Amino acid sequence: MSYHPPALGRLIEALQRLPGIGPKTAQRLAFHLLKQPEGSVRDLAEALVDLKVRVVHCSSCFNVTDEDPCRICGDSRRDAGLLCVVEEPNDLLAMERTGEYRGRYHVLLGALSPLDGIGPDELKVRELLMRLEADQVREVILATNPNVEGDATAIYLAKLLRPLGVRVTRIARGLPVGGDLEYADEVTLTRALEGRKEM
Ligand code: ZN
Repeated sequence: MSYHPPALGRLIEALQRLPGIGPKTAQRLAFHLLKQPEGSVRDLAEALVDLKVRVVHCSSCFNVTDEDPCRICGDSRRDAGLLCVVEEPNDLLAMERTGEYRGRYHVLLGALSPLDGIGPDELKVRELLMRLEADQVREVILATNPNVEGDATAIYLAKLLRPLGVRVTRIARGLPVGGDLEYADEVTLTRALEGRKEM
């Protein structure tokens, strides 16, 4: 490890903790920032702090939002009887980009992954059950990702929800296998939504 002034070393270490950033990239980014005018570095620092201070999870659907409830939950024109369950806020954004879906969402904030110690209690499953009663949901569309964890999560939820008398569907298999919703294009995602099947 080469010697750096402590302030530089601290930044390099912090950058390295970001996903996809190795030691070399971290060092390159740190030296790049060092060359920037103070104003633009301050902008970046404030944006980072603002992210944590202003952006929260909606207490109803767990989407990321700067107002609670979020704009989707607060929109009375959207069908509260139709609930689309996704893994992450990025997946919700992908569904919204299709412009076809007029129901509401529930973000699990993950998928079942026993090997990583992620069970139902680590996800927003209990909160989903509470919403089913409160919002008089007719149909739950399981739009977890088409991979091992996403499928396991959908099967688990279907078993849990069916006895409650709610219609449970799974988005169709048009999506690339193993891929994430967020990488699917609008046409593919719209087809997957329209072709959803009873679980
Ligand atoms: Zn919400």
